[in-house]
Amino acid sequence: MSVTTHGKAFAAPKTDAAGRIPLIGLTLEQMREALAVHDIPAFRAKQVWHWIYQRGVRTFEEMKNISKELRAVLEAGYSIDRPKVIAEQRSEDGTIKWLLGMSDGQQVETVFIPDNERGTLCISSQVGCTLTCKFCHTGTQPLVRNLGVHEILQQIMHARDVLNEWPSSGPDKDDGRDLTNIVLMGMGEPLYNYENVAGAMKICMDGEGLSIGKRRITLSTSGVVPLMQRCGEELGVNLAISLHATNDEQRSSIMPINNKYPLSELMEACRNYPGVSNMRRITFEYVMLKGVNDSDEDARRLIGLLKDIPHKVNLIPFNAWPDSGFECSSNTRIDKFSKVLIEAGVTATVRRPRGRDILAACGQLKSESQRAKKTHFHEGE
Ligand code: SAH
Ligand code: SF4
Repeated sequence: MSVTTHGKAFAAPKTDAAGRIPLIGLTLEQMREALAVHDIPAFRAKQVWHWIYQRGVRTFEEMKNISKELRAVLEAGYSIDRPKVIAEQRSEDGTIKWLLGMSDGQQVETVFIPDNERGTLCISSQVGCTLTCKFCHTGTQPLVRNLGVHEILQQIMHARDVLNEWPSSGPDKDDGRDLTNIVLMGMGEPLYNYENVAGAMKICMDGEGLSIGKRRITLSTSGVVPLMQRCGEELGVNLAISLHATNDEQRSSIMPINNKYPLSELMEACRNYPGVSNMRRITFEYVMLKGVNDSDEDARRLIGLLKDIPHKVNLIPFNAWPDSGFECSSNTRIDKFSKVLIEAGVTATVRRPRGRDILAACGQLKSESQRAKKTHFHEGE
């Protein structure tokens, strides 16, 4: 089975419930072609594109330099909608977590995490995930479908709406944006939905699109080796690897994808990742699971694995969820583990939990919401 058709994932709907085609997500060329069907001249596509990505308009009515007749054509056949907010949670530390509903009712999570000098938006690439990493709540969700290019972009555009960050929102908005970085670390495996992720990131990186540069985008993968090279060459985004274990037996037991692409192949693909250097390091994510992968011996094996790869290690305290069967390592254990790494010259930081008061493990807001629906759950709660 090819990697792009892996598992049971199915495609995003091509139109919304009303049969309208989303304009968000089309390349400029595709937008020209779509409008040409209605005899709309090519230069209009550029204007529409500008309204969508530079001004962030949410209705065709706001496209002031487009005639009324033309706007009516657009209105009838196309959409520039945002996802529906099913739930929003705001943490005391500024973190905002949304459960967003797509046009067919499927739901994904998007999280905004503000920090001193940056604001990071964590976006999803699939509804659920076909991989079943044992510690990950998203992997337990039965339904999986790929997000379309438009649905990946819509998450970013929704965040810009809420944060009031379109250039048209104010004169100083260009310099002082809160949303500066994107991480593909939400629900789903981005490299199992590569085409759509790539399409969305190209528009995201385009200076005339959303204008968020490749150095500000990080794609996290569980290790889909055959697509890593292409991702680096075509997109050039920063890479994060969900490593989480230091030998094949251990990694395969918590991450089944390791049976397909074992550690030796994964580390080789990291070594060859285009553009990797001491200035552009690969992030290795390592979730701290009590008694599973957190011994000093694990730390020493990790040092060996990373020996000749420009790296930074992100130690992630396990975010517990009901019946996961795992516990987070103690603070003392995490400190000792990181000390062993640092003493050997490995760059390691412990991820500070953000939005602790709202941020259950990834994928949990969705399950919480589905459970709550059966009781008393109100929109926006
Ligand atoms: N599928 C991709 C990206 C999404 S997961 C991947 O696996 O890389 C984003 C990160 O969160 C991954 O490193 C994942 O392993 C980690 N993660 C998943 N469940 C977690 C949990 N319960 N606690 C802490 N980290 C978790
Ligand atoms: Fe999927 Fe990533 Fe979760 Fe594994 S950790 S199940 S690859 S979302």
